[in-house]
Amino acid sequence: MVEELRALGVTALITTRAAGDLNLSSTEPVGAVHERWTRLRDRLGVLGPGGRCASSVQVHGTRLLMHEPGWEGWLRADAADGHLAIARGTALTVTVADCIPVFLAHPAGAVGMVHAGWRGTADGILPAAIDVLAAHGVRAGDLHVHLGPGICGRCYEVGPDVYARLTGVRTDAPRTVDLRGLLADQARAAGVRCIERSAWCTRCDSDLFFSHRGGDSGRQVAAIVAPASPGRPPSA
Ligand SMILES: [Zn+2]
Repeated sequence: MVEELRALGVTALITTRAAGDLNLSSTEPVGAVHERWTRLRDRLGVLGPGGRCASSVQVHGTRLLMHEPGWEGWLRADAADGHLAIARGTALTVTVADCIPVFLAHPAGAVGMVHAGWRGTADGILPAAIDVLAAHGVRAGDLHVHLGPGICGRCYEVGPDVYARLTGVRTDAPRTVDLRGLLADQARAAGVRCIERSAWCTRCDSDLFFSHRGGDSGRQVAAIVAPASPGRPPSA
C-alpha cells in the first residue's frame, strides 16, 4: 500500500511475486492468470456488480484513457499507457517490471495511473496526464504524485542515444539514469508540489518484484482506486 495516498482515502498498491505473474501476454493457462486478476480486483473492491477495473495493452506510448462511469467489469483497452478517472469507483491498473508506475491522486477522488519507461518519460506521458487532469478541473498544485517501485538510478544503464533523449546530454558510452528523478522533475515543472518516490528497486529487490532486466517475463500490477464510498477502503 502507498501510505501517503491512503491518507487521501485512496487505495494504491503494487503486487509482488507473492501475488504471482499478472502478465496478460504470458504463455500460462489463461485461467491461472485471470484467477490472479480476480483476486486483485477483489482486493481493490471492484469485483462484482458495479465494479470497474481498467487495464490496457501497453505500448510505451503516451496515449491516456479517461474513464467515465456507466460501465462495469474488467476493461482491457488497446494501446494505452495511462488511465485517468475523475469520478470515484474505477480502479486503474498498469503492469510493470522495471518501468516506473506513477500514481496520481487528488483529495476529491480523481486518480491516475501511468506506465513510464524511458520512452514514456522522454515523450512526456506524465506531464500529459497532469495536463489532462487540469483540463478536467484538477489543479496540479493539489495533486499527489507517487513514483512507485521500478528500476533505480544505479541499475538502469542506457545507451548514448537513449541517454541523450532523456537528458539532452551527449555521451559516448552507456550511462546510468534515474527515471524516477527525471519524472519527479517533470511533475515539479508541471506544477505538482507533493511528490513522493518509492525506495524500492525492482532490480535490486528482485526477490520481491519481477524485473525485466533481471530476466523475468513476469509482471506485477500497480493499481489505484478512489473507493466509491470515501472512508471505507477495501480490506487489504
Ligand atoms: Zn537498483
